[in-house]
Amino acid sequence: MREFDLFVIGGGSGGVRAARIAAQYGARVALAESYRIGGTCVVRGCVPKKLMVYASRFAQEFDEARGFGWQAGKHRFDWRTLKANRDREVARLEEIYTANLTKAGVTLLRNHARFVDAHTLRLAGSSETVRAAHILIATGAIPAMGPRIHGAELAHNSNDLFEWPGLPQRVVIQGGGYIAVEFACLLQGLGSQVSLVYRGEQVLRGFDDDLRARLQAQMQTGGIEVITGQTVQSIEAVGGARLVTLADERTLGADQVLFAIGRMPNIVDLGLAEAGVRHNAHGAITVDEYSQTNVPHIHAVGDVTNRVNLTPAAIREGHAYAETVFGRRPTPVQHALVPSAVVSTPELGTVGLTEAQALAKHPHLDVYRTEFRPMKATLSGHGHKVFMKLLVDRDTDRVLGCHVLGPDAGEMAQLLGVALQAGATKAQFDATLPVHPTAGEEWVTMRAPAYRHNA
Ligand code: NDP
Repeated sequence: MREFDLFVIGGGSGGVRAARIAAQYGARVALAESYRIGGTCVVRGCVPKKLMVYASRFAQEFDEARGFGWQAGKHRFDWRTLKANRDREVARLEEIYTANLTKAGVTLLRNHARFVDAHTLRLAGSSETVRAAHILIATGAIPAMGPRIHGAELAHNSNDLFEWPGLPQRVVIQGGGYIAVEFACLLQGLGSQVSLVYRGEQVLRGFDDDLRARLQAQMQTGGIEVITGQTVQSIEAVGGARLVTLADERTLGADQVLFAIGRMPNIVDLGLAEAGVRHNAHGAITVDEYSQTNVPHIHAVGDVTNRVNLTPAAIREGHAYAETVFGRRPTPVQHALVPSAVVSTPELGTVGLTEAQALAKHPHLDVYRTEFRPMKATLSGHGHKVFMKLLVDRDTDRVLGCHVLGPDAGEMAQLLGVALQAGATKAQFDATLPVHPTAGEEWVTMRAPAYRHNA
């Protein structure tokens, strides 16, 4: 039986980082992955999605170019070209991930691994069992498909979307979270007619309300049909097309139906009970700030723990795990002040507290807001606006949250994240010279609060 110092289950962002760092510390490491190296982010998530977002935004660019003197040409989008180029890029990244693991001396096992007991794993498709002193579970999450409705098998999830053979003319998307909103915008940009069915009233629950309202309005202005307060009740195949019936019995025709209604920790067929590893009712493995489970030599990182379900968090957790266990430098992971972006069009960027969250903890809250037509729109004639909001605690002058809707919002969120990590005050924002002419300069030129809570 082969023995390792560390056995990692899952070759996504968290698992790969942990395996490499542990190997660099001299550990004998094996990593099992039953699908492709790179995980959801690289193979069927953030990376291919962002490439599709770039593709989708050309339509607006072509449109806006006319105001700058470019003559309108004939533009035709070819899904197959995009898919082939995108898939080639994903394959290239997968090769880099694989090569980095191999270079670090990690043994790659292309199998599903399942616990036999707390130190032993069986590799599916072979009779082999392996033993390890330490085990890291980094199996990510899988799409949830909701209650079993009539015709549920006709609904696709985000994994399936990347395999669609062509751009559907009409798409019905159910959900109002990151994935539903991002794919609604990108498919609409590429030329699909999109209906978004959301059970709530305003998409992106958990984000700042001003951004949610404005994004939803801009999606509608852009041509997406947003149907709120509804759920999909059944789906029927009508020839090659689909007939979607909503709870209020309204029907929608579609060529594809996409469900993006959340993701579940992937603990399928892991044998957690055999290892004695505890998880909560939703399947999330319970861990402490060092990613340690209730079994001391078994840890878990990334979406399978359902802490902050974002790739950079998984990478941080994987790295911190390897530092703690193999570098002998206890490194807890901090999950506060996580900057993030929703790659919708327009894009949304955020870091820190929403207004509602800030107000709950800091009653003396000043709200700075600005909404303006971006410079580019002055010549292009495009009607979109940029919205920015800064939340400041009057007692300490600390900036508690920054929220932006508009071009490059994700890039702004990244840099604002540094300022908030450093504990920046409004006075320090004000002392920073603007970069002119940019949209970002508004962050340092907001003079008076739009309103003050409990003044
Ligand atoms: P989210 O949890 O973000 O959103 C799920 C959506 O589906 C919500 O609008 C929810 O409604 C709705 N919903 C849940 N259950 C049902 C149901 N049974 N019937 C109808 N609607 C339902 O999940 P996503 O799938 O969008 O994304 C999963 C995760 O992936 C995110 O949490 C995020 O961490 C990550 N991600 C991050 C991205 C980024 O950083 N840009 C991009 C893509 C994904 P309600 O609001 O009422 O609960």
